[in-house]
Amino acid sequence: MFTKILIANRGEIACRVAATARKMGIKTVAVYSEADADAKHVAVCDEAVLIGPAAAKESYLCADKIIAVALATGAQAIHPGYGFLSENSDFADACVAAGLVFIGPPASSIRAMGSKSAAKALMEKADVPLVPGYHGENQDADFLQLEADKMGYPVLLKASAGGGGKGMRVIEKSSAFKAALASCKREAISSFGDDRVLAEKYLQRPRHIEIQVFADTHGNCVYLFERDCSVQRRHQKVLEEAPAPGMTAERRAAMGEAAVAAARAVGYVGAGTVEFIANQDGSFYFMEMNTRLQVEHPVTEMITGTDLVEWQLRVAAGEPLPLQQHQLKIHGHAIEARIYAENPEKGFLPSIGTLRHLRTPSAVTFELGGEAAAGVPAAVRIDSGVRGGDTISPFYDPMIAKLIVWGEDRAEALARMAQALSEYQIVGLATNIAFLKRLIESQPFAGADLDTGLIERNAAALFPPPQPVTLPALALVAVALVSSEKSAASDPFADTSGWRMNGVLQRTLQFADAALENAPAQPLTVAYRPDGWDIRLGAESVAAILCAHDAHDLTLKLDGRVVRGSVVRDADMFHVFSGGSHVALNYNDPLAHAGAAEVDGGRLTAPMPGKVVAVLVEKGQQVKKGEPLVIMEAMKMEHTIAAPGDGMVEDVLYAVGDQVADGAPLLAFKQA
Ligand code: ADP
Ligand code: ADP
Ligand code: MG
Repeated sequence: MFTKILIANRGEIACRVAATARKMGIKTVAVYSEADADAKHVAVCDEAVLIGPAAAKESYLCADKIIAVALATGAQAIHPGYGFLSENSDFADACVAAGLVFIGPPASSIRAMGSKSAAKALMEKADVPLVPGYHGENQDADFLQLEADKMGYPVLLKASAGGGGKGMRVIEKSSAFKAALASCKREAISSFGDDRVLAEKYLQRPRHIEIQVFADTHGNCVYLFERDCSVQRRHQKVLEEAPAPGMTAERRAAMGEAAVAAARAVGYVGAGTVEFIANQDGSFYFMEMNTRLQVEHPVTEMITGTDLVEWQLRVAAGEPLPLQQHQLKIHGHAIEARIYAENPEKGFLPSIGTLRHLRTPSAVTFELGGEAAAGVPAAVRIDSGVRGGDTISPFYDPMIAKLIVWGEDRAEALARMAQALSEYQIVGLATNIAFLKRLIESQPFAGADLDTGLIERNAAALFPPPQPVTLPALALVAVALVSSEKSAASDPFADTSGWRMNGVLQRTLQFADAALENAPAQPLTVAYRPDGWDIRLGAESVAAILCAHDAHDLTLKLDGRVVRGSVVRDADMFHVFSGGSHVALNYNDPLAHAGAAEVDGGRLTAPMPGKVVAVLVEKGQQVKKGEPLVIMEAMKMEHTIAAPGDGMVEDVLYAVGDQVADGAPLLAFKQA
């Protein structure tokens, strides 16, 4: 076995590979770009070497630099992960030429499957069923259109060299063919440097079912059953599960054997996936082979009790497959959800930013290998490449984590997934978590009525109109806010910085739903009582008692009903996580502008009513922008009035101890 390997990747897959290497006592070398200097994959590896700037072309795609690092650090093998160089046959060759082991198939297998067209020609010879279509060399537009006309519309055009759903065009009728062909070729040349295309009959309501295969250098090749990846957006996977609902033992064996035949036809070694497109009646056709470890491999690991990265390392080191076909069994059901930094409501547009708050579901019991040894799979597994405080940058894939759950059956796995998603908390960027939860709970997914159009067809249910923020959610924020002020001050009732109305100290808080553009701020009235607060929104009101408060987590009694939630403040935004939902509220903080008081006609005015507790400048004094001038106290908190720019204090209008009304001029200030 190797004693040291280099991981030529980043993010969750680099961390995933490192975890197994550690378990096996193998040292790891990470490579990283300038953008990833503080990334998790750098932290979890034994050594890390900078290989270039952020752009993948100048770092993670630089085969020469990576091979040089492997040689310099004494690594014996390179694991390419997925994406980047994983399906680059020249890189596989270059590793071997440098005396390194490429942890993947031989370059010749990658090459054979690299072109979807050439792969289909090969599969035809191996008697693997194909989708009707044209995958030959002739790229003449008239010829291709004739082929499309023959197979009948709708027709799907694909880039032969394609991946990640790029370049694909569905054509509904012959008259639209030429324009679609031109646009497919444009995208193909820009994404893959190769504009060759193939045409296929576009299947109606198909399912994407793929088979995990594994081969060693001793002539063994097995299949580790199927994964159903039908739930997609823009031809990209969103949810993956194993086994495929409705799969019969006969069809499983037929697909497994077809996949093994496909792998054998190209002299395959290591982990690979044969993707099939299946009709609702179960008939299936070869689509392509991915010659690498797949993003969704964990669902297979969870139902088979295997560690596929360990298998990869063993096979690459020349060992035989750990298990033979008859020893492989399916136990239970697993589902994976890809947690992305993206905005489903805005066409799944990627979102970038810092994970200012990250809390993952509690029942994480997965340890690599641990569950297989004990014979009891973990219920929830999270494969992630980021930690709280890390950043999702614009340079790479916006995947935050993969959430994988296991259950004795699909119903149990579904329930665990819904629970885990409701416990997942992220603040700092848009995510698809709420969307995933709706998807998991939607009737078609829950009922296993799967096909690749599931998301589009159910858009109405999956993208419901935003609901008004509920009073319990507002009560959680209000109590979090007022009780944090309470703990910051000595006694909230000692002063009248709030309002007193009929002898009751009362405040109005303004919150606006951040999910709605230009949502009006809603006034929430909070009246203090000895044991809690009366909270009123319009005609609705509730008596709130704080039972427990630990960092972000609150337990309230609202009119006697226990409500739990977490409240996270991020500048002027409050995030409430409660009952499985996440609401973001813009807080219209009357004090927030205290540090940047407006200069009004040469006068610096008080941003709220309060008391002057310190005057830090004198008449005639020169000050710099941001320098503290006056400190006020309001609502039991101190607020510093700072210089809005460089300038001179012309006059000081209040003394320490003075009460100041909202908007009263505090200083005469002359901007430089
Ligand atoms: P599959 O799900 O069939 O394995 P995908 O095409 O969805 O295939 O996954 C591979 C994709 O993952 C690549 O096209 C790339 O966009 C993305 N990717 C590559 N490297 C990483 C990485 N380190 N972390 C997250 N995503 C990555
Ligand atoms: P990629 O290399 O981008 O993964 P694939 O050939 O694997 O491309 O296809 C990606 C997805 O496109 C499939 O999972 C499926 O949803 C859809 N698709 C591919 N071929 C067909 C087809 N002939 N009919 C209908 N949908 C298809
Ligand atoms: Mg594919």
